[in-house]
Amino acid sequence: MSRALIIGAGGVAGVVIHKCCQNSEVFTDICIASRTKSKCDKFKEELQDKTKTNITTAQVNADNVPELVALMKEYKPDICINVALPYQDLHIMDACLECKVDYLDTANYEPEDTAKFEYSWQWAYRERFEKAGITAILGSGFDPGVTGVFCAYAQKHYFDEINYIDILDCNGGDHGYPFATNFNPEINIREVSAKGSYIQDGKWVETEPMEIKRVYNFDQVGEKDMYLLHHEELESLALNIKGIKRIRFFMTFGQSYLTHLKCLEDVGMTSIEPIMYEGKEIVPLQFLKAVLPDPASLGPRTKGKTNIGCIFRGKKDGQDKTYYVYNVCDHQECYKEVGSQAISYTTGVPAMIGAMMVLTGKWKKPGVYNVEEFDPDPFMEALNKWGLPWTENFDPVLVD
Ligand code: NDP
Repeated sequence: MSRALIIGAGGVAGVVIHKCCQNSEVFTDICIASRTKSKCDKFKEELQDKTKTNITTAQVNADNVPELVALMKEYKPDICINVALPYQDLHIMDACLECKVDYLDTANYEPEDTAKFEYSWQWAYRERFEKAGITAILGSGFDPGVTGVFCAYAQKHYFDEINYIDILDCNGGDHGYPFATNFNPEINIREVSAKGSYIQDGKWVETEPMEIKRVYNFDQVGEKDMYLLHHEELESLALNIKGIKRIRFFMTFGQSYLTHLKCLEDVGMTSIEPIMYEGKEIVPLQFLKAVLPDPASLGPRTKGKTNIGCIFRGKKDGQDKTYYVYNVCDHQECYKEVGSQAISYTTGVPAMIGAMMVLTGKWKKPGVYNVEEFDPDPFMEALNKWGLPWTENFDPVLVD
């Protein structure tokens, strides 16, 4: 019997809510709390007659710690699942500390005024969480999230040392719009317009945005262009996986997306520097978000599949070894099941599973952790059960 407080009511939250309601044995009670309460109420209306989970809703500004604390004191959750935006991470962690509530998120903290994301801010909470006897799980979406669990699984079962990891994130879906993002447009555009980087021999190597391109033939999707990006899990995996010489992250983008993005960048629409417009300060990127399609509305239109996984090269018993593990997810199947496209689905399912790992005691340890620091086996088993089955290939095509 456990109570989860879910913060946020957007695309990813919708999947977390559906999945918790499918898993009523673990999630007996959930409270959906977000800035716009009507969105929380809509989920409650849709699901309350179809689930044994008791659903309540609340309005909360997750940037306001006293408001969060008041809500936690009233609702008394066992865990808080943060699926709002990365800007809220530290505020929600502060409230969890004050109320001694376990914490989980899917994206690392990012200051609103600097497009820079790294774990240092959240890792700085380690000692305080240890002392309070509560667990924080960072980055339990797909990437970060399942990709870290895949790494821990490869390390545990197949390698003595892993020297090279390439994380490949392919979205072969088509929503029919000339330009739209699959998750929060502001966060997405900040991520893809930033400089690229990867870790080589313990050091970050920086590239220009989209400077490194490769082509890869993805199972069930086909051949796609993919580009090297900076991604948060590189930082924790380089520390937690033994023997790493190089770790990179690639994401696929179509030409239309890139052409639109370049044009928007060139005219200043992706800037996060505030400007004055008709006597009011606005942030161009936030204005752009307001005119782009809401990612939560892409579900019914998106066709095709995602394929996300990791390719490993390393050694086992003195021999060279390669291994590829990935999940393929169908946008329309996700929509049929929970009313969302596959990007929200592949993020929301691992968030529910991560919370289940904590609530059932399998991943309960005071402190602040990345997912690859725990036993991957129960999580991998749960992926197969809860909608994200994985495939292994011991002779994959490598990325040069
Ligand atoms: P959405 O923009 O669809 O949803 C965000 C939700 O958070 C909205 O309901 C929004 O409220 C709410 N919110 C924002 N600010 C506040 C606040 N101050 N107080 C309370 N609620 C607030 O985003 P997504 O669902 O697409 O993404 C959610 C998270 O998932 C993001 O952090 C994103 O980075 C992460 N993500 C992780 C991935 C992974 O694989 N690890 C992949 C994709 C996303 P309102 O409705 O009022 O706007």
